[in-house]
Amino acid sequence: MTATLSGACECGLGYARDYPPDVRLHRRVHDAWQYGVRLPTLKGEQLLVQTGEIEVLVVGPSAPKPVRKRAAQVGSMANREMHYDFGVYSPYDGDERGYSTHVYLARVNGRAGAILVTRERHLFWKMSWPEYATKERRLHSRRHEMGA
Ligand SMILES: [Zn+2]
Repeated sequence: MTATLSGACECGLGYARDYPPDVRLHRRVHDAWQYGVRLPTLKGEQLLVQTGEIEVLVVGPSAPKPVRKRAAQVGSMANREMHYDFGVYSPYDGDERGYSTHVYLARVNGRAGAILVTRERHLFWKMSWPEYATKERRLHSRRHEMGA
């Protein structure tokens, strides 16, 4: 069997239009891109608030794995739209837990309509203006040495 890769669709997926498994994959990806990732009710999901037809789900650090994986799918779709390479959220233990990451998903008619990711960062940087200027000069001369 030969398959022809015929460029990417507007949804961003390049696939072989004459290869049935690719066509099925594209159907799912394109549907999620066009209408939002499907968010059927999952065991362990937490509904934070509902207003009209909009449900806001919260996915905390100790949410069940399937709930976190689904949030990552929505994040991946957001990446595709924003043309970023890296995920806005990782479902894997250790990637996010130190930051008390919470994902908020807006669900409308069973589809993801929006995502918000919050992380706690305990970073504090304090320096005087002269220290800042010295650091800038060092960075500038280093860039100069490297030919940039
Ligand atoms: Zn497509």
